[in-house]
Amino acid sequence: MRSCIPVVLLCSLAFAGCVNNSGTPPVASSEPPPASVKTAVQAADQSGTNSDKGAEMQEESQTEYNKLTEFEEYVLVGKGTERAFVGEYTDNEDAGTYICRRCSAPLYRSDQKFHSSCGWPSFDDEIKDAVTKHVDVDGFRVEIVCSNCGGHLGHVFEGEGFTEKNTRHCVNSVSMVFIPEGEKAPPKIRLGKDAASDADAPAGDSQGE
Ligand SMILES: [Zn+2]
Repeated sequence: MRSCIPVVLLCSLAFAGCVNNSGTPPVASSEPPPASVKTAVQAADQSGTNSDKGAEMQEESQTEYNKLTEFEEYVLVGKGTERAFVGEYTDNEDAGTYICRRCSAPLYRSDQKFHSSCGWPSFDDEIKDAVTKHVDVDGFRVEIVCSNCGGHLGHVFEGEGFTEKNTRHCVNSVSMVFIPEGEKAPPKIRLGKDAASDADAPAGDSQGE
């Protein structure tokens, strides 16, 4: 069987790992999340007033994040990378907000996006506190993840001189959903406190074992 050869020389620094997959086009799931507890959370922000520009910080406490396709899961959870130049947002110039596909947290605004010609959507800044950076397992790149759900977004590079901010967030399209300006974004999902530990929850119902 002929194996595909990853294209690694597109951008030397931009190389974010390449993937051969048949690329099911990311489809925004329109199904409502199953069996989730939809409780509006009053964000008890102890750090005083949170003046978020434009974004209404709506949140929902649920038992699980948005349903992902296999490929979305591969990128967001498995820290995979979509192939260069195939992502649906690489050349998107529309005004709006990019939210996390997994938890719907706002990540980037269109005015932070620029063309880098590296094959992935590029941003020179993020919405405040939306993105967390840490050293990649490869030891030299800086991985960026969604601060809310930890979903893998891509990598950030500095010193390339693309924009005045000298920073390039190289983000997988599939990690995001674009919300055009004027459209209402879904609320950010925060997992309920007991959602993660429901395995040992002493349920009242009888177990058929
Ligand atoms: Zn997220």
